[in-house]
Amino acid sequence: MRLVSTRLAATGPSRFLLTARKPLGAMMTRSLKTPFELKTPSKLKAPFELKTPSKLKAPFELKAPSILPPASRPFDRLSASELETLEQAHRADRFHDHCGVFGIHGHDEASHLTYLGLYALQHRGQESCGIVSSNAKEHIAHRAMGLVSDTFGAEILDRLKGRHAIGHVRYSTAGGSMLRNAQPICANTDGGPVSIAHNGNLVNATVIRRELEGRGAIFGSTSDSEVLLHLLARSRERHMEDRFIDAISRVKGAYSIAMLTDDALIAARDPHGFRPLSIGRKDGAYVISSETCALDLIGATHERDVDPGEVVVIRRGRLRSIRPFSREADEHFCIMEYIYFARPDSNLIGHNVYAYRKELGRVLAREHAVGADMVVPVLDSGNAAALGYAEEAGIPYDTALIRNHYVSRSFIEPTQKIRDFKVRVKHNAIRGFLEGKRLVLVDDSIIRGTTLVKIVGMLRAAGAREIHVRISSPPTTGPCHYGIDTPTSDELIAHTHTIEEIRERIGADSLGYLSLDGMRRTAAKELKRGICDGCFSNEYPVEIDTSHSMPQLTLFRAVNEEETER
Ligand code: SF4
Repeated sequence: MRLVSTRLAATGPSRFLLTARKPLGAMMTRSLKTPFELKTPSKLKAPFELKTPSKLKAPFELKAPSILPPASRPFDRLSASELETLEQAHRADRFHDHCGVFGIHGHDEASHLTYLGLYALQHRGQESCGIVSSNAKEHIAHRAMGLVSDTFGAEILDRLKGRHAIGHVRYSTAGGSMLRNAQPICANTDGGPVSIAHNGNLVNATVIRRELEGRGAIFGSTSDSEVLLHLLARSRERHMEDRFIDAISRVKGAYSIAMLTDDALIAARDPHGFRPLSIGRKDGAYVISSETCALDLIGATHERDVDPGEVVVIRRGRLRSIRPFSREADEHFCIMEYIYFARPDSNLIGHNVYAYRKELGRVLAREHAVGADMVVPVLDSGNAAALGYAEEAGIPYDTALIRNHYVSRSFIEPTQKIRDFKVRVKHNAIRGFLEGKRLVLVDDSIIRGTTLVKIVGMLRAAGAREIHVRISSPPTTGPCHYGIDTPTSDELIAHTHTIEEIRERIGADSLGYLSLDGMRRTAAKELKRGICDGCFSNEYPVEIDTSHSMPQLTLFRAVNEEETER
């Protein structure tokens, strides 16, 4: 039986009423006590999951568990609504990077190259994008909700005149339109126009914001990045780079920034170097980019990375390096960038992402060997680690799942009909190929676990005899405070379940995670740099003041704005 909706309402201190509606409108109810486990009530189909009821506020909606696709059916037999649910669950079952930044100084095609750079950085954020150009007198901006390719046409890029430009792509999960928070953000100061594109998260932004508001500052967005602009505008320093340094010396947390003034491009990384930022050259112009894949796309050379705590000022064709912070802070590069945020063709802090992921797969194979007929990646997140695992274990690598890469995010499409079609063509299993096979299924992480439940179920339905899941990172047990959009701890399956419970939940024959020690040793050997692994170890390098810090997502929540800014 398929249920259209379910609702759980508190009817007393420890009593709940579950109401479910059938397709033709008939209702069924069931009383529940807390603490309870819903043991697949006879009229509901598993998988069915309730969170700790004491933490739920009544009345609340369950996440339509009854329409989650049963794990025993392949994708091509699911209904359109089941596929849509699956797609949404897959998106929710990942960490998300917040932003990518790009900048170019001294090129006749500045805005066009910035457009291409943002195109290459699209994986770092798909919710909004923007470009600001400088013609040495004023800044010209265009920001919009949506993808880079949907936002910028030739007419808009031609309007973004000037030899200098910065751009930004941003991710956010908060519902509705959030144009107000799109970047780069711009201001006219007494020192001239300033625009900022920021990747990261400032952990003391709320405290500074309250302080500034108490002194009369008016904020136009809920983004923590705007704090930087206010600090800069209020600085008593004379030169813009000194004002910028004044501003960043007040903030704590993660930032990789590209800032445009009337004549200069300024870039900086926080003293811990959480987020990447590279410097390139193209036709004599300087280029700044979150990842080197954007430099490759525009044909720029990769010169070096901006160092942790370094500020670079590019003006009149020259680059000046300033190191305003004493180097007492250790480097803490975000290891998640390597594990799955960054594009595999990027080089971060001097090491290729793809090669590093393969190495993690090799270490994983040594830590969790198992007899199997083939190693299968979860597409595309597990590709490189699966290859490393297969090479180390001497087991053939194969793809049992096919993913269509040319399908854009389904919710952007305007009609339900197109959405359903696009989700349907996105995944499929190769039937008749897995019959009786023992598989090692490799992915880079498990966040909520919902995706793996479906994939394991689909592979079993396609005939796999054994499925051994291997994860190329340690259990993800904590949220990120440094610029990555993460679920709360309670939503992380590794925070609330043991490894054996997770194995049971996802329906695998065995489950093995890369050890924290194995990950750290690999980082020390390959990267030779300090890393942040807070979401695995719960050891956070920059202290978080939880009494003042905003939840990550609320930093990006703003009033609805319907129109594209022009
Ligand atoms: S907590 Fe995790 S996601 Fe956040 S910076 Fe550290 S390693 Fe990266």
